[in-house]
Amino acid sequence: MNQSDLNHDRQLTDLLANAESYFRYFQAVYGDKIYLEAEIDSISLTRQERKQLGFANLGYEIRHCRRCELYKTRSQVVIGAGNPDSKILLIGEAPGFNEDKQGKPFVGEAGNLLDKILKSIHLRREDIYLTNVLKCRPPENRDPEPHEQKACLNFLMDQLELIQPRFILLLGRVAAQALLKTDQSLVQLRQKIHRIGNARAVVTYHPAALLRFPKYKRDTWEDVQIFQKLLRGDDDLQR
Ligand code: SF4
Repeated sequence: MNQSDLNHDRQLTDLLANAESYFRYFQAVYGDKIYLEAEIDSISLTRQERKQLGFANLGYEIRHCRRCELYKTRSQVVIGAGNPDSKILLIGEAPGFNEDKQGKPFVGEAGNLLDKILKSIHLRREDIYLTNVLKCRPPENRDPEPHEQKACLNFLMDQLELIQPRFILLLGRVAAQALLKTDQSLVQLRQKIHRIGNARAVVTYHPAALLRFPKYKRDTWEDVQIFQKLLRGDDDLQR
């Protein structure tokens, strides 16, 4: 069997596995009847069921996405992790080497550092939902190109729509500029409360940047203190 046959076999196996999990989900929600898309609208679902269905649809779309060239070099997509019912959302830049291998956001050394940062404000991963602007790893961890961000941003907007967060922590310049639709630098965007839809957002450094430049740890600590005050409903920050 040559390389092209192997790739074809792999794609087919992947497709069948995804189709199976998709149909299993539909069976869990709708029972054994197969509904046409138009019929689904008329079925009465709880808000939670609609949300689960939304996540399942989105996951399926992302896993099969070829909107930008990054699908060619990814090992797998990294959609997000944590508690999708949380009101707290953390958004980073893109999967790195370890994330691409494991299919989870913020693993490895940067992930360990993020856990410590979360612990300092009494949060655990299961209390929040974590995702990135891009769902596929840019080769060599280079910065995402503007057209890649543009291609992927709709998925993040769909996640926001499904999660309806009230508090967002933006990790790093790419996430901050993409979500706040600005060219301002990270330094200009820190230490402020921003609005993203109905949520309030704080900007700080990405943990991977802190591993390279530990001098920013102090600034990060100051930023997450603001975020913690926001979570606690500090009156001064509500104005
Ligand atoms: S980075 Fe986003 S837009 Fe590009 S292929 Fe991956 S999921 Fe699709």
